[in-house]
Amino acid sequence: MPNKKLLIEYYNQLCDVLNNNGYRIETYFRGEEGQMEYYTDMDHPDLTIMGITEDAKAYRFLQSKNLIRKDLCHFCGDTIKSSIYTFTEPHNRIKINICRTCHSKGQREQQVYRDMSSRRGCILFLPVLMLSIFR
Ligand SMILES: [Zn+2]
Repeated sequence: MPNKKLLIEYYNQLCDVLNNNGYRIETYFRGEEGQMEYYTDMDHPDLTIMGITEDAKAYRFLQSKNLIRKDLCHFCGDTIKSSIYTFTEPHNRIKINICRTCHSKGQREQQVYRDMSSRRGCILFLPVLMLSIFR
């Protein structure tokens, strides 16, 4: 069963750890470079992991602290019994554990990311996202 509440709690924890250890999201909007704190998108908590994996160092830091869960779908919060299904994010080719249902809904998820990307104004991000591989 998808568990949005659990997913939000999980991402809030990851974001807190990153923020408390000095990690920031690098932003680039209308030619301006900036930084912002990690945060969980309440409408689309699954997008949080995309922001985190954009910075391989931030992701590896969480991994080194054993905070990246293997028993949870990073898209819907469902419990995973065996981690056969992964989503390979486009920036650093990091494999993220997802459940079977989300894996088969892959095309729809990609659409969500495209919508999200255009909302953030990351035009350059789009062609890369379209190359995302579901395994
Ligand atoms: Zn799922």
